Amino acid sequence: MNKSLIIGVTGGKGGTGKSTIAVSLAISYAESGMKVFLVDSDVESPVEHILLSLDRVKLDEIKSFRPIINHDKCVKCNLCVDNCPEHALMGLPGRIPKLIPELCNGCKACYYVCPVNAIEEDYSVAGEIYEMNLNGLKILQGELKPGFKQYVNATVSTINKAIAIKENFDIVIIDTAPGTGANIYAALSQCDIVIAVTEPTRLGANDLSMLLDLAKKIGKPAYIILNKATMPGGKRDLIYDIANKYGVPVIAEVPYDQKIMSKYFRGEFSKTIDKSQRELFRGIAVKIINLV
Ligand code: SF4
Ligand code: SF4
Repeated sequence: MNKSLIIGVTGGKGGTGKSTIAVSLAISYAESGMKVFLVDSDVESPVEHILLSLDRVKLDEIKSFRPIINHDKCVKCNLCVDNCPEHALMGLPGRIPKLIPELCNGCKACYYVCPVNAIEEDYSVAGEIYEMNLNGLKILQGELKPGFKQYVNATVSTINKAIAIKENFDIVIIDTAPGTGANIYAALSQCDIVIAVTEPTRLGANDLSMLLDLAKKIGKPAYIILNKATMPGGKRDLIYDIANKYGVPVIAEVPYDQKIMSKYFRGEFSKTIDKSQRELFRGIAVKIINLV
């Protein structure tokens, strides 16, 4: 990925349509003859395979640290319990802590704080990484298994797998999870520019602010795409107020299209890209290249 232009497509909240934007841009670049790599790092709810109606091929497993407490070494100090950010270790005075596996995110804090090296390393398979190909477009996708909470670890594993693929791409698009947490930071820190996808609602405006704060903190140039711009009752002004406040331009508006939304939910998105949409996204794709 070294010499590629890496574009992070992200949205402060779920449902803004960032994945449809990411896929549409990827298709536009691929159709223009570029070699494109689309990385779906929304490990909790990856949808690229559904949007593109593609069968997935398993490439790797996402392994996650799981602590095992050596009963012979443990001095029952409960330091691991106190430092577990997920409260996944249950401790009682004078007892060896007990792990609640469903809550463990694999952060390894317990392993590092244990003063007597009583925590040993074990690993569980938290998810899988898949690959897909479609006419000059390569897609990599990470997915957590249901019930697993290792969002950061799974995102980092997916991004690292993408980095390890030694192919020369013109464009890499990283579709992130929604939000502004550590998993989003992990994905966006690899990108050259951030495309913040939002919608004209109060919640959209609020989450856009947080996203633009994050982009500023990590020093990445950001641009806004206003999706569903024509939705009934939409509050476009709120989005432009935020854009002005942060000095971040709205580079495109994508009109609200109920037909697309319903086909999206039926997993038929790839069949719905008509001529006008193709032209719209071709224009946005060119605009992004010219911004860099
Ligand atoms: S790995 Fe992290 S989340 Fe899991 S038990 Fe240890 S400190 Fe808690
Ligand atoms: S930090 Fe180590 S010694 Fe202390 S309770 Fe946890 S496992 Fe036992």
